[in-house]
Amino acid sequence: MTARKTLDQMTSDDLDQLYERLAKAEHDADVSIAAAAHLTTLVGQRSERAEQRLAHLQTTSEAAGRLLTRTTDERDTLRAAIACVRELHQPTGVVAAAEAGVEPDCPICGPNRWPCPTYLAVTDLGPAVKEPTDA
Ligand SMILES: [Zn+2]
Repeated sequence: MTARKTLDQMTSDDLDQLYERLAKAEHDADVSIAAAAHLTTLVGQRSERAEQRLAHLQTTSEAAGRLLTRTTDERDTLRAAIACVRELHQPTGVVAAAEAGVEPDCPICGPNRWPCPTYLAVTDLGPAVKEPTDA
């Protein structure tokens, strides 16, 4: 840094240099302000896009939640129907059939039909199958 001159020591060239430095400082400030404004715009645009993505994700998530609920309800309804069908097609006369060496009866499908086609059809569709009883 050069020694500070008094006003009486300053020449016209010194004043020109000061004005040039002032002009450069003003220009640099304008460039910095423009860059900050540009960054503010970019941040605003990105923020807006992020908010749009978030809104889309929330909408998608809500739709997925509704679908899951409906699917779960339908699954529960189907499981209940399968359990009902199984209950209707439980074997009867198991001990007597075993003693006679024949298959037990199905109360719906008929004598010596257990395991009946209906029971077999729903056996792999749900939770564990009940063991046959001598009902
Ligand atoms: Zn049956």
